[in-house]
Amino acid sequence: MRPALIATPGGRPAADQPDAAAVLRAILRQGPLARTAIIRETGLSAAVVSRHAAELLAMGLVWEPPEPHRPPRPGRPRIPLDIETAHHVAAGVHIAVPRLTFSLTDLRGTVIAYEHVPRQRQHGAVLQDVAARLPGFLRRHLGGRSVLGLGVATGGWVDPDAGVLVENSALGWRDIPLRRSLQRAVGLPVHVEGHARALAQAELLFGSNRGGDLVHLFVGNAVDAAIATGGVLLQGRRYGAGGIAHLPVPGSAEPCPCGRTGCLQATVSDRAVARRAVAEGVIPHPDLRLLVRAARAGDVRALDLCRTRLRLIAHAVRPLLDLIRPDDLVLTEFATLRLPRLLDELTRELTSGGDQVRTGSFGVDTLAVAATAPVLAAVYQDPLGLRTSGGAR
Ligand SMILES: [Zn+2]
Repeated sequence: MRPALIATPGGRPAADQPDAAAVLRAILRQGPLARTAIIRETGLSAAVVSRHAAELLAMGLVWEPPEPHRPPRPGRPRIPLDIETAHHVAAGVHIAVPRLTFSLTDLRGTVIAYEHVPRQRQHGAVLQDVAARLPGFLRRHLGGRSVLGLGVATGGWVDPDAGVLVENSALGWRDIPLRRSLQRAVGLPVHVEGHARALAQAELLFGSNRGGDLVHLFVGNAVDAAIATGGVLLQGRRYGAGGIAHLPVPGSAEPCPCGRTGCLQATVSDRAVARRAVAEGVIPHPDLRLLVRAARAGDVRALDLCRTRLRLIAHAVRPLLDLIRPDDLVLTEFATLRLPRLLDELTRELTSGGDQVRTGSFGVDTLAVAATAPVLAAVYQDPLGLRTSGGAR
C-alpha cells in the first residue's frame, strides 16, 4: 500500500534533500534507469543512491517496471527505476482574463484531465468559485489517485514564498493572498506561481531544455518573462525578475494603466491586438482566436497583424536577450502555437548569435501544465519534504 503524500510549500528541505532530488531528477530525465546508471549520472555513492532509491520507491514516486525478457546474466539483476505515473498527481488551476483552467497532471507533467470555466470578475468570487468547483473536478477525474497539492498559476508578478499575487495588471488585481485564501477552503497545500515562471519550471523539468540557459516569454493578456541560467530560475526581489510588461516599444503610443504610453503589454496583449484587428475591419469581435483563425485561413491582413505583433515583441525584448544570451528563447503566444511558421518573424528579428527561438514544449496543454507545475517543481526540488497526508501541516 503506497502512502498518500502532500507537497507543502516553502518547507525547509531535509539535510540530504539535494541528493534525493538528484536521484529523482536523473530518473525523470532518463528513466527507466538502473541504479548503476544513476550512480554514474549523479556522481553519488552506491550506498546513497541505494538508500534514496528505496525511500522514493516506498513513497510511490518511482517504481520498478518489469524488464523485457532477456537471457539470464551473471551477477545481481539490474532492475531499472522509472517515475511512477499511476499513483500521485498534481492538481492545478490557471487564472486568466477570460477563464479558469482546472487540470490534473502526473509526475511526468503529462496532462490527465482539464476543464475550462469562465472567470468571475472579482478576485473574491474567483477564489470562491475555485474552492466550489475543485471537489467536483477531482471527483470526475482522480480515479483513485492521490493529490500532492494544488498549483495556482496566473500572469503578472507573483511571490510564491508569500503565496501572494503582487500585481496582475491584466486582471486589475493587486496584493491578493491567494494561498491563504484558498488553502483552508480546498483542504490541500496550495503552491502559487507566476505563469511565465511556472512554464519555465515545466520546460526545465519536462521540456526540451533541461538544465540550460533559457528565457521564456509569455505573451497573452499578461506579458511576462522568466529567466533561467544553469537550470535555475532567476528570482529577483520578491520574485519580481522578468517583469517585462512595461518595457517600452519603440513607436507605440498605446496608453497603459501604469500611466505611461507605449508599454509592451499595453501594445501587444491579446486584447490590444484583437481590438486593433476590429478597428481595421479584419474581424467582427475583439477575440484573438478569430484573428488567428482568419490568419490560418490565409487572410493576408490577419497574418500581417500577427507578424507585426511578433516584430514589436522582438524590438522590446532584444536588449534583454543581448544581455543574457540564452541557449533557448521559448515563446508561448497563441498565434505561433497555432501557426508555428510565424515564428520565423521573431527568429529573423532576434537571432544574432545562434540562439534558438522556439515555441513552448506543451502546445495546447500549456495552461494545464502551467497550473500544476508549481506542485511538481516542489516535488522534484525536495521529494523527501513530501509529508504523509493528514500529518502535521
Ligand atoms: Zn505600463
